[in-house]
Amino acid sequence: MTGFNPSLPCTLCPRACKAIRAKAAGFCGAGARLRVALAQLHHGEEPPVSGADPERGGSGTIFFSGCALCCVYCQNHDISIANLGHDMGVDDLTAMMLELGLAGAHNINLVTGGHYTPQVRQALIQAKANGLTLPIVWNSSGYESVETLRTLEGLVDIYLPDLRYMDTRAAARYSGAPDYPKTATFAICEMRRQVGGLVVDATTGLATHGLIIRLLVLPGNAGRTDLALDWIADTLGPDTAISLMGQYYPAHRAAEYPEINRGVSPEEYAAVRARMEELGFTRGFVQDVGSSADWTPDFRQK
Ligand code: SF4
Repeated sequence: MTGFNPSLPCTLCPRACKAIRAKAAGFCGAGARLRVALAQLHHGEEPPVSGADPERGGSGTIFFSGCALCCVYCQNHDISIANLGHDMGVDDLTAMMLELGLAGAHNINLVTGGHYTPQVRQALIQAKANGLTLPIVWNSSGYESVETLRTLEGLVDIYLPDLRYMDTRAAARYSGAPDYPKTATFAICEMRRQVGGLVVDATTGLATHGLIIRLLVLPGNAGRTDLALDWIADTLGPDTAISLMGQYYPAHRAAEYPEINRGVSPEEYAAVRARMEELGFTRGFVQDVGSSADWTPDFRQK
């Protein structure tokens, strides 16, 4: 039993679009069944998640099809918006988690699974009952309902949310979600309540539990990453682990929005990084500014 009834109006995420998923997909693209695009050992996440050695381990990453946020510049739009993937059941997802563990994954990294939370929750319970002991990472756009997140308490060890916008106009323009700043900050507070600050094993260098907030700097600082840093420092404290991402490049429909139809300049990234230093953040990761579609994330300790 997953506790999910696709014949009832869906309100799992903040869109609350009330789709009857047994009949038609919701705003996020999700129907009645789980849909997964890809499962792999991933070496491009932050070092405590992927591990420092690109030849070993990696994060056991499962990319779910569909997304409740649907940003116009989405770099994974074939998965998140075009909904590419394969339908499967909870038992298949459980087996996928166990197989990633056997393949040497450092953790199980669930990417954008919010619209499948009840099924993922059930798969986690089954996988743990079958011996899965790896840390569970919930990798999210940050656009999540607190009520739904509460159902994951005790099952997720590491939360890895984005905080994309602190500007409601940008959130409306690029993601159709003017409520994003309020919703995501509430969600991140709930995540922090569940798992606390980031804890990294001193021997392995791998995260065991806690929160890492990802901040994707947009061209012109359109999402107001500086205000996100202010909020984190004020609300959660400057010891919060953050990942300041410079990997934006215009993808999907970004060409329709001239102001974000370019990469982030080194000056724009440096200005946000300066604000991070000014606020006294002590734990985090930074990147070189990248501009190509095949750019490989390179997170370095701040
Ligand atoms: S999870 Fe999907 S179907 Fe459910 S409310 Fe959100 S957008 Fe609608």
